[in-house]
Amino acid sequence: MTFGVLAATVALFAALPFVVDRWAAPRASPAGLVTLAMVRLAGLLLAPLALAACLAQLAGHHAGLGGATLGLAMALAALTIGRALWATWRAEDEWRRIGAALLAAGVPGPSGVTVVPLAAPTAFVAGDRIVVSAALFDALDPAELEAVLAHETAHLRGGHPRIAAWAHALSRGSFQIPPARAAESRVRQQLELLADRHVVDTLHNPEPIRAAMAKLSDGGPGGSQRLDIGHLTHERLRCLLAAPSSAAADRLVTITTAILAAVIVAAVCGALHVRLADLGIAVCGLTATGLWSLLRPLHRPA
Ligand SMILES: [Zn+2]
Repeated sequence: MTFGVLAATVALFAALPFVVDRWAAPRASPAGLVTLAMVRLAGLLLAPLALAACLAQLAGHHAGLGGATLGLAMALAALTIGRALWATWRAEDEWRRIGAALLAAGVPGPSGVTVVPLAAPTAFVAGDRIVVSAALFDALDPAELEAVLAHETAHLRGGHPRIAAWAHALSRGSFQIPPARAAESRVRQQLELLADRHVVDTLHNPEPIRAAMAKLSDGGPGGSQRLDIGHLTHERLRCLLAAPSSAAADRLVTITTAILAAVIVAAVCGALHVRLADLGIAVCGLTATGLWSLLRPLHRPA
């Protein structure tokens, strides 16, 4: 693979999601946009590997430096993937510890939730439980409380905390460059919108969740900040009022996701040269399997 092809790949990678984000984001389904952003993050994580492998090939043509540069490519790949795995492990560990501490301090509440003695009105998912602060019961009326619980149930059933943790890990692995940060923020935003849409589909009324959001514009301690982000409230309210997703926008997002996935496979396998194509296929296969198992709950019917 030449640098020209790699440059075209990088340009495509940067431009396509930007165009899709600008046009399709307000119209496409959140699940599709989360998938697109996660594929983009995976591509950004693997890009240094492809770039270094290209350098190795170029060096291989001159003065027999290919072996050393290929070694550098492998070290870079190990560093980026290692950073991502370390960030995920730390986030999951922190999340487990906060969840365990809150669950230990809480008491069983209605609808199987755990009620914790926090002064801030907040609700979030900790491990496999929905945690609600005692102050939330005082702040919301029963319809609003039902909407908030439906929102958190959507997070729990859809595996949203794990997806958000992996988006952060992939972004960390990519050294949090601006496109990676943008994709991570897109994932978080769309997970919120997905949970909001689940509430509207379940309760057939957007009013209680809108009213609750107006009261709970800020998240609670630790993990809740990962999913319930105050500055997203305006965007979430706007999307609740917007028309339902359009089939054309969904198709565009699906096609873009497929193109990006194909480009990643071609770039990684192509860059690794014929001799190491097996390694490229293994890396891409592992990445695709991980993303598939992570994102599968999003595409299940409610
Ligand atoms: Zn939420």
